[in-house]
Amino acid sequence: MVADKKLSAKGGGWLLEQTTTPFTPEDFDETTRMIQETVRQFVEKEYRPVAQAMEHGELEHNVPLLKKAGELGLLGVEVSEEYGGLDLPKTVSTVIAEGLSPTGGFSVSYGVQTSIGLLPLVYWGTKAQKDNYLAKLVSGELIAAYCLTEPQSGSDAMGAKTRAELSADGTHYILNGTKMWISNAGFAHLFTVFAKTSEGLTAFLIEHDTPGLRLGGEEKKMGIKASSTRQVFLEDVKVPVENVLGELGKGHKIAFNVLNVGRYKLGAGAIGGAKLALGLSAKYARERVAFGQPIASFGLIQQKLAEMASRIFVGESAVYRTMGMIDEALSSLDKANAAEAVLAGIEEYAIEASIIKVLGSEILDYAVDEGVQIHGGYGYSGEYAIEQAYRDSRINRIFEGTNEINRLLIPGMLLRRAMKGELPLFDAAMKLQKELLEPSFDEPEDKELSQLENLKKLALAVLGLAALKYGKKIEEEQEVMAVAADILTDIFAAESALLRARKLGGGPYADMAMLYQYQTLDRAQAAALSILPRLAEGDEMRVMASAARRLTRHDPADLVEVRRRIAAVVLEADGYPQPRA
Ligand SMILES: Cc1cc2nc3c(=O)[nH]c(=O)nc-3n(C[C@H](O)[C@H](O)[C@H](O)COP(=O)(O)OP(=O)(O)OC[C@H]3O[C@@H](n4cnc5c(N)ncnc54)[C@H](O)[C@@H]3O)c2cc1C
Repeated sequence: MVADKKLSAKGGGWLLEQTTTPFTPEDFDETTRMIQETVRQFVEKEYRPVAQAMEHGELEHNVPLLKKAGELGLLGVEVSEEYGGLDLPKTVSTVIAEGLSPTGGFSVSYGVQTSIGLLPLVYWGTKAQKDNYLAKLVSGELIAAYCLTEPQSGSDAMGAKTRAELSADGTHYILNGTKMWISNAGFAHLFTVFAKTSEGLTAFLIEHDTPGLRLGGEEKKMGIKASSTRQVFLEDVKVPVENVLGELGKGHKIAFNVLNVGRYKLGAGAIGGAKLALGLSAKYARERVAFGQPIASFGLIQQKLAEMASRIFVGESAVYRTMGMIDEALSSLDKANAAEAVLAGIEEYAIEASIIKVLGSEILDYAVDEGVQIHGGYGYSGEYAIEQAYRDSRINRIFEGTNEINRLLIPGMLLRRAMKGELPLFDAAMKLQKELLEPSFDEPEDKELSQLENLKKLALAVLGLAALKYGKKIEEEQEVMAVAADILTDIFAAESALLRARKLGGGPYADMAMLYQYQTLDRAQAAALSILPRLAEGDEMRVMASAARRLTRHDPADLVEVRRRIAAVVLEADGYPQPRA
């Protein structure tokens, strides 16, 4: 093992120890499966009939659809029963996000309502604020929007220019500014708006008919066309002091914490979207004939189907492993202090939330891109569903923190934890030094786990070297941070898949996990070698480079055969071969 086995596997802990039994979708309980089925029926019965109309601009269908979702209990999964919610584990909310992914733009309307729209109130609302709004948001009677981004500040959220001045009599704030890209704006009743007071960024609850609040026109977007996205103009908007949400000057806590929640749901939704793309592609490949045979019989098409399936299995495993960790942390919480404790529990796994946001959105983009390719010219036609899936997918790398920002957060959070003494990462990196100089060449008992352990050593060595060379200035070395993020993401993903495949008893899932792991080893080697000359010089650099090669070494395998086997299973299942419990 890399480090002390007694460490508890908290956020980032997997880098220092091995998790043997991750939570997987096969562990879903009865309630989760029931909700999964409810969502499936909702998509078929409620969404399908209006899907095309919504896609062509009839955005008003969002409102009754959200209401229907409310009637089915789908808006209150993370809300206490006191306000009409179901108060279920976070896994359930990700299962819903995954299930709604075929609804494109509507899944964004739903996501905004139930995450960034409603959760600030759940976690920071006063009793009076909750009494006023929460039950109505859970039923879908009220619709919520979240206004953080501005024309001149997105990633740099703290650079917001919207101002909130306290009135002379101290009874209300007067807000002025412009918010940009606000989802649900066209039909929202309640806007959570972030503005600067003299104390700093602060959140305000503003009702849609408050004088001075005005909407821009609908943005002409590339995808998720069924969702509403508008600018929100605030001109001398008077907001009673009672509508300040959370503490004055502490708006950043709200803004950043709810994004964490959004990230793991986005990861799950992206995997759902990738499954849809694979299903469409497998069916098309079976039916389309070229050169006298179905294109599914061609090696290059099979290769794409197999890659899609393998990455989906990996992404799905990483998403639900994370959800298992979060729900386990939350299940032991002191309910008396629920909101704070839940936030702390979620924050604990912020590293994993960023990992699955990046991983999921990039798996999705790969899947829809290859999906279009498998469809040939028809993939470029609006008549085929894969075309919409391709356009809808692209936003996922941009919102909930761009993938660049999330890549910086992944090693950034790990290093910050290590510096605070919360994660014994530097001890582990120090212990490694000796081993890297005097490698052992014993044949490992468990080759695949040993490869993962070696990858963890490589990640630790890179992080250790980077921290040593740059200290706190490491955050300015973005290219190094992104390489570290990619190695860490691949490790978490490959390990999640391998452990799940073993739990499933191997079969095609062992192939999928193995395919990804081989690619991870190759990618990690190239990535590490690309930045080592920036982290070390001369002999030290050469020793580290040779350690990087050794730690990622593996015998070549016939991956062509592996992919063909996976493709055969995909074609038989007409899509992603969902493992059965
Ligand atoms: C359809 C849609 C719906 C949205 N819904 C909402 C909503 O409901 N509410 C809301 O508040 N916002 C919403 N957003 C806004 C979204 O969150 C932002 O677009 C996103 O955060 C990126 O900000 P930006 O567009 O200003 O890009 P910028 O922050 O200007 O980024 C431009 C590029 O620079 C990169 N970059 C920026 N900073 C750094 C850095 N420090 N280091 C390295 N690279 C960097 C980015 O990764 C990106 O590639 C939505 C956006 C869209 C398109």
